[in-house]
Amino acid sequence: MPDAAVRVTFLGGLGEIGRNCCAVEVNGRLLVIDVGLMFPEPDMYGVDIILPEFTWLLANRDRVDAILLTHGHEDHTGGLRYLLGDLRVPVYGSALTLGFATHRLDEGGLAKDTEFIEVADNERRRIGPCDVEFIPVTHSVPSAFALALHTPQGIVVHSGDFKLDQLPIDGRRTDLSRLAALGDEGVALLLSDSTNAEEPGFTDSESTVGPALRRLFLERPTRRLIVACFASHLHRIQQVLDAASAQDRTVVLLGRSMLKNVELGRRLGALRVEGTKFADAAALDRLKPSEVLVVCTGSQGEPLSALSRLASGDMRQLDLGPDDTVILSSHPIPGNEFSVGRVIDDLHRRGAEVLHSAHERVHVSGHARQGELRTFLQLIRPAAFIPVHGEYRHLVHHAAIARRMGVPDEGVLLCEDGDSVVLDETGLHRGPEVPAGFHYVDGHTGDVDERPLEDRRMLANEGVVLVAAGVDAENAKLVAWPTVSTRGWFDGEQEATLRARCAELVAKALEDALASGMHDTDSLNRVAKRTVGRFIGQSTRRKPVILCAVVSL
Ligand SMILES: [Zn+2]
Ligand SMILES: [Zn+2]
Repeated sequence: MPDAAVRVTFLGGLGEIGRNCCAVEVNGRLLVIDVGLMFPEPDMYGVDIILPEFTWLLANRDRVDAILLTHGHEDHTGGLRYLLGDLRVPVYGSALTLGFATHRLDEGGLAKDTEFIEVADNERRRIGPCDVEFIPVTHSVPSAFALALHTPQGIVVHSGDFKLDQLPIDGRRTDLSRLAALGDEGVALLLSDSTNAEEPGFTDSESTVGPALRRLFLERPTRRLIVACFASHLHRIQQVLDAASAQDRTVVLLGRSMLKNVELGRRLGALRVEGTKFADAAALDRLKPSEVLVVCTGSQGEPLSALSRLASGDMRQLDLGPDDTVILSSHPIPGNEFSVGRVIDDLHRRGAEVLHSAHERVHVSGHARQGELRTFLQLIRPAAFIPVHGEYRHLVHHAAIARRMGVPDEGVLLCEDGDSVVLDETGLHRGPEVPAGFHYVDGHTGDVDERPLEDRRMLANEGVVLVAAGVDAENAKLVAWPTVSTRGWFDGEQEATLRARCAELVAKALEDALASGMHDTDSLNRVAKRTVGRFIGQSTRRKPVILCAVVSL
């Protein structure tokens, strides 16, 4: 018989921006909130995405009743296609969130086998062990939810990703009155978005971006305009479409996800396109620069995206040049600064004008700053608080904000991936840890673990040395002089001398080993490898990957 305690287990998103995932246990049953992915750092060679580790979740799969999605961003839904194959449970979310998730599941062939259950704003329904309320919040994707779970230990609120936008494009505000009413009832535990916890003040409303874009468009009546933004940011896209229509420009969408998401937004009524003239990419040839506006993907510098291809001159339909103005209506996600910078450089090389958030107000964040976080805490007045969704420093700042807003010291817990907490009659306590490492996915070969990644780092940073030699083991003789070749090294005179010296040392080491009675090639290969490693280390201070092929001839 399960006890009455509520447990929350954090599988991702606490200590990094990305791969958000946690599980709430009520009466022994589990509800999973979000299953996100994260994009790799530049030194994670060959890794396409990073997922939460699902070991614990799969070991408890019989107890999982459902997955609840707060909103449609990939750091909340992108891991679904990797989990649902092993964990068949219904997935709850807003129509738009489920639409975005379906696009990605389609790619994995999983959509048709998944039970999607659509929920409406402010709907309260029984899911598994408890009632769950879906509360509207504003964010940089429409139809985002905060969740309130009505458990035997009181109400647990998960903020989802949110900001307090008072003038959202669709008029759907964060439901402060419902959150305040929950606060009146008594919230036992709040989990809240920490992304902007270091930033003072309030995040600007999304509706400030439209006028900035319109002004930039009006100042450039004869130029071709290209706007890059997140394909899921339908409110941003809406404002771009409206500004284009005001100038009587025809809109061309570039990028697969842009086309798909705009179609989804139209179908669900999240985008209003009555006044917009659309044309496909083929029309770019005949439209004058002043007649067209391109909306494209690639605002994060993604290598295969429409914007990257435009920047590198790899887009058949559009040859970017001095008549063009490119607006990046976005801000690089941490880790993407380098790729975004490279795309901006390439755009400049083609002679285009480039505008971005560093010098124009063409982007606002989707996350609450300190002022909004305090308002949220003031309304909800939780007995206990855990900051979620952030790098470690964001979590620390958010915890400090919560204490200042009156959450008792012992009720504020700083947790990281793999931590769990227990909420019972006596309050909030730490629970056991669970495995929550990075789960790397290499698009070509499937999963990778830390070891091949280490090899790839060594190959990239230190190069590789290949040694081949032939022995006649029976007669204890070296019969093919060692050849030493390198990859990823400079190919100068110095290296040639190094290779020759290395070959001599390997020859000597092999002859000595053979003379001492060593016959098997495994042992001889180990001797060769040790000799090469020691020599290269001493003479170059490098630690390359060393591959030896000492064979018996
Ligand atoms: Zn988000
Ligand atoms: Zn997020």
